[in-house]
Amino acid sequence: MLRHECGYELDLRCRQCGATLLHEPRLGIFCPSCGRRVTLVCHRCGKKW
Ligand SMILES: [Zn+2]
Ligand SMILES: [Zn+2]
Repeated sequence: MLRHECGYELDLRCRQCGATLLHEPRLGIFCPSCGRRVTLVCHRCGKKW
């Protein structure tokens, strides 16, 4: 489960391999399995994840 700074939570999976995506402050959202990075805007507050 990803959790944004505003408190919004989202269960997001990698489109390539299906692994649950993680968030690192330095990297942003990424897949721990295949390394794919995802740019996402929070659905609640509209800021970058
Ligand atoms: Zn992946
Ligand atoms: Zn947010």
